[in-house]
Amino acid sequence: MLGQMMTQPLLISSLIDHAERYHGETEIVSVEADGRAVTTNWAGIAANARRLGSALTKLGLDPQDRIGTLAWNNRRHLEIYYGASGAGFVCHTINPRLFPEQLVYIMNHAKDRVLFFDATFVPLVAAIREHLTETRHFVLMGPRDDDVLAQLPGVAFYDELIQTGAEDFTWPDLDENTASSLCYTSGTTGHPKGVLYSHRSTVLHSFASNTRDVIGYSAMDVVMPVVPMFHVNAWGAPYACAMSGSRMVLPGPDLHGEALVNLIDTYGVTLAMGVPTIWQGLLAHAAKSGTRLASLDRTVIGGAACPPSMMATFREDYGVDTVHAWGMSEMSPLGTTNYPLAKHMNLPPEEQHKIRESQGRPPFGVELKIVDDDGAQLPNDGQTQGDLMVRGHWVLDSYFQMQDQNILQDGWFATGDVATLDPDGYMTIRDRTKDIIKSGGEWISSVELENIAVAHPKLAAAAVIGVPHPKWDERPLLVAVRAEGESPTESELLGFFSGKIADWQVPDKVVFVDALPLNATGKVLKRTLREDFRDALTG
Ligand code: ADP
Repeated sequence: MLGQMMTQPLLISSLIDHAERYHGETEIVSVEADGRAVTTNWAGIAANARRLGSALTKLGLDPQDRIGTLAWNNRRHLEIYYGASGAGFVCHTINPRLFPEQLVYIMNHAKDRVLFFDATFVPLVAAIREHLTETRHFVLMGPRDDDVLAQLPGVAFYDELIQTGAEDFTWPDLDENTASSLCYTSGTTGHPKGVLYSHRSTVLHSFASNTRDVIGYSAMDVVMPVVPMFHVNAWGAPYACAMSGSRMVLPGPDLHGEALVNLIDTYGVTLAMGVPTIWQGLLAHAAKSGTRLASLDRTVIGGAACPPSMMATFREDYGVDTVHAWGMSEMSPLGTTNYPLAKHMNLPPEEQHKIRESQGRPPFGVELKIVDDDGAQLPNDGQTQGDLMVRGHWVLDSYFQMQDQNILQDGWFATGDVATLDPDGYMTIRDRTKDIIKSGGEWISSVELENIAVAHPKLAAAAVIGVPHPKWDERPLLVAVRAEGESPTESELLGFFSGKIADWQVPDKVVFVDALPLNATGKVLKRTLREDFRDALTG
């Protein structure tokens, strides 16, 4: 016997319809490519998304054709998220920080038929345009601009394009498994790989994001996704916030501490999300400016391990709760978030803070396990570490248009992370498989050493890498960036580890650099560091 309930497809268009109907007047602040802040609302975003969906349909594209974007977090980008996917095309967000050759590879591989771009990227588009063999329409995200037309003959303008569309456009009734958006992983090895999300996976991910112990966006919140809309759909915030009717502040191109602090204080941001490197800049500026970040309740920090010292600064200096989150492009991205359980409420504060340091627990819809080299499951004892495997409703099944893939093992996806799981499901990332340091048959977590190092007041940033060693195969090397005006010594820094970890895990040496090399998503490029310092202990 079947249940006798309605079945409606889970479609991205239904999210924007909901936001328009029940939260139409709720404000969206958007910092434009030229730095000006403008204010619209969910009704305005919805109307323009329909105009855009209609205009794209009139261009005569095929269903699920890819619509590329090279854009910051702003209102037009949000309209494209809904207009492109809602009308049955695939919104392909592209990371503009990649090398031009990688951008060309990605856009040609995705066969982007239309490319929308912010004014910032006019020179970039002019430079690579002749190599984009699949792209038919180039659209500047703004009003008509004759200077841009001179640089890019034939370019179209977003504000004119949407006028060719109908505001009363009806969203097509799609199968919920239809592809909706596409992101490529940064591809630290080999070519970038595409992850193709569906309407269904996106809506389910939004439901899960909106539960209380995941992120739980609210209609009371002012949400600022600092994580870019070109990086795993800004962790799904543009979709989940339409579902919850949250106000949004889209920060545009300037992600420096000063600009972010101003936005938080001016617009009363309550919830902000981003990678640790962004918050380093924000906290440095906040300390200088004397702001209290009075409106901010919570930050969600992930993408790389959030150092406990950063959580402590938010908590103790600003009264801001930090939710540590872990995920990846292949998981839409949310895999775990860290909230306490009821049984932790009677613990002393220090023990509660300690519990909040790990990457957290999976929501309903994601399952985690750790396995050994033979694929056998390892115990969830909080001690044993193994390869982290995942499966769930918003986890990828296969990469976009890639030959010879056999990426699942018995239906589980191997994340490439090494982790521990405790009996309550709290997961701690020990390292990426390729970054873990193998010293004399024992494993040393670079993440653990970095968390200690960055808490040193005389350091601005730090990375720990394994470098070749004649006796132990590999030993840890601390690559350190001095804080402004400070000159810590090697012995001072190495001494800082003592008592915090076993002596044999303390790095052998410190090298100082002016800055750490970062990849296109703001993560430290450890491979580059390993190459640069390969002779540090043998040379
Ligand atoms: P890539 O960096 O390959 O483009 P993603 O942006 O999807 O891919 O990053 C996913 C990876 O980032 C995870 O597999 C994990 O190694 C790392 N990561 C994400 N969040 C955290 C976290 N909170 N702590 C430690 N590592 C994290």
